[in-house]
Amino acid sequence: MQFKLLTKMTVIKEDINKQKCDGCSDCCQYATVIIKKPKTRLDLEEIIWQILHDMELEVDHEGDWLLTIYCPCSALDKNGLCSIYDRRPEICRRHQHTECARYSSIQPKHLIKTQEEFLDFINSQPELKKIYELPK
Ligand code: SF4
Ligand code: SF4
Repeated sequence: MQFKLLTKMTVIKEDINKQKCDGCSDCCQYATVIIKKPKTRLDLEEIIWQILHDMELEVDHEGDWLLTIYCPCSALDKNGLCSIYDRRPEICRRHQHTECARYSSIQPKHLIKTQEEFLDFINSQPELKKIYELPK
């Protein structure tokens, strides 16, 4: 009984998501991973290298560090639809339109796209500045 109810709720939620997502596939165009907060100069240099490879860094409101790389999902079809919708990974199923940039009003705390922006960010954070100024 509980299982049936949950299944029904999931279907309703998915229907709402489908309507809201109509014509949009923005969140299928990139992948985001959480990285460890840098503790050494080498860690910071590695992030600079990743930013130079077109990855974006976000330090969110919870203090988590996330890297985003723009790489469209290979399961997107030419119409921008998921070709494996019934078999899509759990992470896709759990993603709600209320969390996405199109509908959510929550802005990233720090969004860093260039080496210069990252160096400015380091200089604005005493703890990171200290690490970055250590001799190599
Ligand atoms: S969840 Fe948001 S970003 Fe993703 S496809 Fe739907 S509307 Fe677009
Ligand atoms: S599997 Fe489908 S829903 Fe998930 S990112 Fe790829 S295209 Fe989007």
